[in-house]
Amino acid sequence: MTNTDTADAAATAAQIADLARAGSEIVRITVNHDAAAAALPEIRQRLDDMGVPVPLVGDFHYNGHKLLAAHPPAARLLDKYRINPGNVGVGKRRDDNFTTIIDIARDHGKPVRIGVNWGSLDQDLLTRLMDENARKDPPLEASEVLVEAMLQSALLSAELAEARGLPHDAIVLSAKVSGVRALWNVYRKLAERCDYPLHLGLTEAGMGVKGAVSSSAGLVPLLADGIGDTIRVSLTPDPGAPREREVEIAQEILQALDLRSFAPTVTACPGCGRTTSSLFQEMARDIQAYLRAQMPQWQERYPGVERLKVAVMGCVVNGPGESKHADIGISLPGTGEAPRAPVYRDGELVGTLQGDTIVEDFNRMLDSYIEERFGRP
Ligand code: SF4
Repeated sequence: MTNTDTADAAATAAQIADLARAGSEIVRITVNHDAAAAALPEIRQRLDDMGVPVPLVGDFHYNGHKLLAAHPPAARLLDKYRINPGNVGVGKRRDDNFTTIIDIARDHGKPVRIGVNWGSLDQDLLTRLMDENARKDPPLEASEVLVEAMLQSALLSAELAEARGLPHDAIVLSAKVSGVRALWNVYRKLAERCDYPLHLGLTEAGMGVKGAVSSSAGLVPLLADGIGDTIRVSLTPDPGAPREREVEIAQEILQALDLRSFAPTVTACPGCGRTTSSLFQEMARDIQAYLRAQMPQWQERYPGVERLKVAVMGCVVNGPGESKHADIGISLPGTGEAPRAPVYRDGELVGTLQGDTIVEDFNRMLDSYIEERFGRP
């Protein structure tokens, strides 16, 4: 999801392009006022001019019914609308506003994500369920009632959308929370109670390592159980840090589970007392960065290269064995070993590198391997 001011079409289009080039397959953008909705045609045009066909999802809160009605070009060009049923109004206005959006989606043939978030849950529904629960003997834990309110908010909204004529297969649900175990609980129940596609995400996962680990812990068990059709990693970026980090983490999660492949994998050992120089860490880092940077061109040129496995190991203990398991691997000399680095291709020893040009020599072997194995005939 972008974090630019959507009304700034140039900045928003540039960030969407960055996210798409990093591998994002669908990008959500805030549509929060008239200027934002009015900027959408220019954003789409700029993306088309850059050759970036990534689908765009409009994120609507509070005034989506007005914006979509007042800006038909925006309604037409968006590929999906995201609505939070807790943020479309209260009482009868809630249903009226919601159905206005659904009617526009139906008439334009657009899918809708009904995205419930526990930070903005439908308060009328929650209050009613809490009151009903208070009369039970024994009552459920308040957290269970909260989960039930999220499920009902999503499912009743979907029911209402279908009653307005939105096709069943044009509805996606999400129910985001910021706690890992709560996420497992709510999505497992949602998957049991419906067959809509589910968008997964741990909301407000946080910054840096904490955000990455929490997102992984939240998403992996669900994905491993076959729950989830699209995912988003919601990281708070460091000031000035690239927005694409969350795309990279999402890809790593899917790749670690063997659900998708996006870029070659570099297996590197952690190093220990047998590695007193930083050569192998630098080499692993540089190769990983090199492979990732090449992917936009390689995807076209070398079909299947994203499944390549490279090993960069620090010494003789596990180096040769791990290198043999990879498609191509190098075992660098540890402390006290002869300054030679055996290289393996498809499990076979194919050479031994030494001297000051080990890194460059290995990179050349890597390029040749990729050309020979993945190059088009
Ligand atoms: S492969 Fe060698 S350097 Fe790497 S962690 Fe194992 S023993 Fe240490």
